[in-house]
Amino acid sequence: MSNETTTGSPALAERIDKVRARIRMAEVGAERPENSVTLVAVSKTKPTSAIEQAYATGQRAFGENYVQEAVDKINALQHFTDIEWHFIGPLQSNKTRLVAEYFHWMHTVDRLKIAQRLSTQRPAALPPLQVLVQVNIDDEDSKSGVAAHEALKLASQILTLPNLQLRGLMAIPKANVSAHEQSETLAALRTLFVELQQLDPNIDTLSVGMSNDLEAAVAHGSTLVRIGTDIFGPRETAA
Ligand SMILES: *Cc1c(COP(=O)(O)O)cnc(C)c1O
Repeated sequence: MSNETTTGSPALAERIDKVRARIRMAEVGAERPENSVTLVAVSKTKPTSAIEQAYATGQRAFGENYVQEAVDKINALQHFTDIEWHFIGPLQSNKTRLVAEYFHWMHTVDRLKIAQRLSTQRPAALPPLQVLVQVNIDDEDSKSGVAAHEALKLASQILTLPNLQLRGLMAIPKANVSAHEQSETLAALRTLFVELQQLDPNIDTLSVGMSNDLEAAVAHGSTLVRIGTDIFGPRETAA
């Protein structure tokens, strides 16, 4: 290991500190308790050395979008036994086994078939897979996620599956909208989340907010933000 990977890169450490400070400010602004928002560092397309640098700053939760790339990194970083891996990308049903075997969290469940396969394939030796229902909150044709009016039904079906623990909702609101439209979308998402919480006492996670909408998301009740660019820098591939 080079010195850089063991001590952490100053640039990355500064960027992640800045993100943590933004989260803290947003928590204060919303009169929410410290550490009520979890930071997931989105490391897709970035090398394991970048993950090690973030780890050196104390970061433990990482998000990945592409199954095979993620599994390669998880295997390479096996010695960091306290990393929590979050799958946040779209998932084809023929790839569920690797998610069930390698991840702690799965954010993008949007149909029952995927949930059933994940539950069946979750190894018995592991705790239940922590899952979120992805909601297509802006009802965009191009986006994955269940329609908002179908989210509660899917959630109640997931609650019956033995090896999954339903924890809440995930959404990727439209980028480049007016502040008004953004806040309407986030408010609708929060309303749906509060309704969902009536179904089960373990539902505590609203995964929304990326580099560009972190503050707005936390102001509207996000409990988990997924930040890539503002920690690791821009990605070279479109992702
Ligand atoms: C890439 C990605 C992120 C991180 O986005 P940034 O804008 O780089 O912070 C968050 N969530 C999902 C689902 C992603 O695909």
